Amino acid sequence: MIKKQLNEIKDQLPEHVTLVAVSKTKPASDILEAYETGQRIFGENRAQELASKYEALPKDIEWHMIGHLQRNKVKYIAPFVTLIHGVDSFKLLKEINKEAKKNERCIDVLLQFHIAIESSKFGFDSNEVNEMISSPEFQNLSNIRVRGVMGMATFTSDQRQVREEFTDLRKHFEQLKPSFTTDFNVISMGMSGDYEIAISCGSTMVRIGSTIFGKRD
Ligand SMILES: *Cc1c(COP(=O)(O)O)cnc(C)c1O
Repeated sequence: MIKKQLNEIKDQLPEHVTLVAVSKTKPASDILEAYETGQRIFGENRAQELASKYEALPKDIEWHMIGHLQRNKVKYIAPFVTLIHGVDSFKLLKEINKEAKKNERCIDVLLQFHIAIESSKFGFDSNEVNEMISSPEFQNLSNIRVRGVMGMATFTSDQRQVREEFTDLRKHFEQLKPSFTTDFNVISMGMSGDYEIAISCGSTMVRIGSTIFGKRD
C-alpha cells in the first residue's frame, strides 16, 4: 500500500517540487518500504523520535525536522539533520547555530511564518523576521543557512481561505529573497489535504504523511 500511494503522489508532483515523506509515529519498517521505492527524504516532528530513527535506518536518508522544535531538543538532531523547517524564533535560530558549531557543520533552516487564522499554529510575522535579519547578531550566525520559508494553512475545507494563506507565504518568500543568496529557494507548504493548492500557489516542497503511510493513531 505504501509503495503504491507513494508512487501515485510522485507521479503527480511537478519536477521542481520536493517530496518530504512524513513518517512521524510510523515504524521503521514503513519507512523502509518507502525507501525501497527510492524515497530518501523523510520528515519527523519529534527530536528524539527523529534521532532514534536516524540511528536505526540507512545513512543515506535525509532527515527533515518539520514540527515545532524546543531549544533544549536541538542537540539531539544537530549532528545529522538535513533541514529544520520550523524555525519560529531568533532564540531557536541561535541555539541551532550553537549546536551546529559544536558539530562542525552548517545546518539548513526554513523560517516558519504564521499564515493561518488558527492561533494554535506557530511562526513569525513579517515584522519579527525583518527585525531579526537586520540585526548584526543575525549576520554573525555562521553555522546556519536560511534556505527559505515554511508555513501551515488553516485546517479547513474552505479552499479559498487556504489559497489566500499559501499566497501570503509566497509573498513573504518573495519579499525576503533579495536579502539572501541564491540558496534561498525553498517554499515548504502543502500537506496531505492541501498540497495540490499549495503547488498551484508556488510550493517547492510538500510534506505528506497520511496519504502515504495511512492514518496516524
Ligand atoms: C504531520 C505533519 C505533516 C503531514 O501531515 P499529513 O496531513 O499527514 O500529510 C506536515 N507538516 C507538518 C508540520 C506536520 O506536523
